[in-house]
Amino acid sequence: MVDFALTDEQLSLQELARKFARSEMAPHAAECDKAGRFPEEIYRKAWELGLMNLNVPTEFGGSGLGLLEQALIVEELSRACAGMTTSIIANCLALEPIILGGSPEQKQATLTPFCAEYHLASFCLTEPSSGSDASAMKTRARKEGDDYVLDGEKCFITNGPHASLYTVFASTDPVARAKGISAFIVPRSTPGVTPGREEEKMGHRASSTSTVRFEGARVPVANRLGTEREGFSIAMRTLDQTRTPIGALATGIAQAAIDHAAAYSLQRHTFGKPIAEHQAIQFKLANMAQELHAARLLTWHAAWTIDHGSKGTLESSIAKCFASDAAMRIADEAIQVFGGYGYMKEYPVEKLLRDAKLAQIYEGSNEIQRIVIARELLRAYA
Ligand SMILES: Cc1cc2nc3c(=O)[nH]c(=O)nc-3n(C[C@H](O)[C@H](O)[C@H](O)COP(=O)(O)OP(=O)(O)OC[C@H]3O[C@@H](n4cnc5c(N)ncnc54)[C@H](O)[C@@H]3O)c2cc1C
Repeated sequence: MVDFALTDEQLSLQELARKFARSEMAPHAAECDKAGRFPEEIYRKAWELGLMNLNVPTEFGGSGLGLLEQALIVEELSRACAGMTTSIIANCLALEPIILGGSPEQKQATLTPFCAEYHLASFCLTEPSSGSDASAMKTRARKEGDDYVLDGEKCFITNGPHASLYTVFASTDPVARAKGISAFIVPRSTPGVTPGREEEKMGHRASSTSTVRFEGARVPVANRLGTEREGFSIAMRTLDQTRTPIGALATGIAQAAIDHAAAYSLQRHTFGKPIAEHQAIQFKLANMAQELHAARLLTWHAAWTIDHGSKGTLESSIAKCFASDAAMRIADEAIQVFGGYGYMKEYPVEKLLRDAKLAQIYEGSNEIQRIVIARELLRAYA
């Protein structure tokens, strides 16, 4: 049976996120965007309400939510501010490798503190010379007795300067490329760990992005996730989980663009009537609405597929890729509906275009998503 009706619990989570987004995030979105301010007080409130660490199982104090519930929450948050949402959900991305690859002891020791107190964590995969081709990473992990010593630099790390813990991917055998990568839990307090300067970004300016350097950073073998060389698989399985929320984030941006464009079209008059009465504007809104619905349904479907036990590689790539491309087109059309005002920073729609752009790039660019989609598709015909 296919059922699109949300349960009472799902509806109340959606309502909780919507209220928080409207009352706590939206009023500060423009100011944080303009100043590039990281509003930690808002992130703390999100944590207090249980809107962070959504994927952490309840036995460790987390919300233990499925991806459909996460998608409902993320869409609502992103509708108010995608940049803040990126920082709020970065803990899910950083903690997922521990959920997937950690031992019961590692989970107890690392996940529980994140649910008992407000902390941020960062996922450290990308490097200055390797993003899409993560298997070409230069960060090394050398085994010395009961420790690993990490050397290298990660870049574009969300919440990098604010995190108390990093999940870090490093190579123990560069010749083996993907098969030589291992994953590590690295506390920020480890000597030799240094977050770098914050990047000045086009969008998501309420989020923080920086390099993180590892210079002789020594962690015990007990901090390795899974077996040696399992790191690449842990990273890819993590992204299978976290791409669906990016589809939801893009859907939230698209919904916000339609909210603004539809309302504006009813109050802006040209040639003696609201622009909403010109068929050209109606057709724009109709196309935007179609793409929004498709983005949301693809995201829900990917979430449902994974929540029902499938790997969901194909579905999550389709959702992330389609929803982020749709968000770009919808935000672009929203600016067009606003005319010259849409181009001005005083109005909210140009931010949506800048924010939508990132969803096409991070957690695997949309070119990489298309490679994944084609590979999964062709597998069925080989
Ligand atoms: C604001 C922001 C936050 C981020 N947060 C994090 C984070 O928290 N943790 C983290 O690890 N990373 C993070 N990233 C990194 C992000 O995931 C990468 O930027 C992304 O995966 C692309 O890698 P790249 O920038 O090195 O581009 P490249 O890999 O150099 O790609 C450049 C271009 O070439 C295309 N391309 C590459 N290979 C192929 C191919 N085989 N076929 C066709 N086209 C190809 C790409 O799609 C892209 O268009 C973040 C990035 C940004 C901008």
